[in-house]
Amino acid sequence: MNYALRMHGVNVARLAAVLVGGLAAASQAQPPQTSAAPPPLVRENATVKLTDHVWAIPDFNVGLVPNVGIVVGSNATLVVDTGLGPRNGETIVREMKKVSTNAEVFVATTHYHPEHSLGAAAFKGAKVIMPRVHQEEMAEVGKQIQDTFARRSPLTAELLNAAVYPTPDIVFDREYRLDLGGVHARLLWRGPVTMHTRGDTMIFVEEDRALFTGDVVMSQRFLAAQNTSSITAWLATLDELASLMPRTVVPSHGKIGDAALIARDRAFLQAAQARAAELKRAGKSSDEAVAAVVAEIAPNYPEWGNPSGAAAVARAAYAQAR
Ligand SMILES: [Zn+2]
Repeated sequence: MNYALRMHGVNVARLAAVLVGGLAAASQAQPPQTSAAPPPLVRENATVKLTDHVWAIPDFNVGLVPNVGIVVGSNATLVVDTGLGPRNGETIVREMKKVSTNAEVFVATTHYHPEHSLGAAAFKGAKVIMPRVHQEEMAEVGKQIQDTFARRSPLTAELLNAAVYPTPDIVFDREYRLDLGGVHARLLWRGPVTMHTRGDTMIFVEEDRALFTGDVVMSQRFLAAQNTSSITAWLATLDELASLMPRTVVPSHGKIGDAALIARDRAFLQAAQARAAELKRAGKSSDEAVAAVVAEIAPNYPEWGNPSGAAAVARAAYAQAR
């Protein structure tokens, strides 16, 4: 079995070496949008109970739809992520009202990307909570990505038309503990370096041991790194998240699972980081290291789709390797 995989790896490596330019280009490109792509709408009547106080509206693995969290205490409710634009936010409000009658509502966004934060306007009277850096990043680069997402299809344009980023009511630095009545949510920020974004926010529901990871952990796809992402910081954060011993892990995208999701992302990041560093020390270029990681390591994660999805992580790891 190992031998067969290695042989497969060698063949793919050769192919990748030839295609390296193309692969690098593909990693920068947007995924192709076809008319067959499901619409980026949060699904109505889909809310599921995960633990005593935690519900989720699953994303059904649809692009630009997040797994939405609803944490219900005896006094207040916390919603995690708001959908792509106010129309999706309104769907979440309707779903929330089916499982919660609390008048006090808090809204947390896991990062500034539009499908996480631009539905917030639908939550009238809610208190928005976010880390300071998350707010700064939203103000600096939010509009730009909103425009990029709006150009993807007539529907994304309609959903994001006139959508505005939320203004936080509560801003914190590294951590904020929210008492919802009988259940507590710890909001965590572990910057200042970039993981998926600079503002990545994770939420741990203490009593239920349920963890919302944003895009710091992903399911059914490769982690999405930027060129400036610190893979070392990312690994340290994954270690901290694992140390919380969550029983339920809700990534922002893909199937909801348990701590095995964290472990699998960690194993991949570590393997990609080690290989990229080794090749850099051997004098190889960034493109060569990216091709090697895509060819040799990414195929070990077939459930994450096209191996070229690993390129961005490899590129970031190479850039930081000494
Ligand atoms: Zn994102």
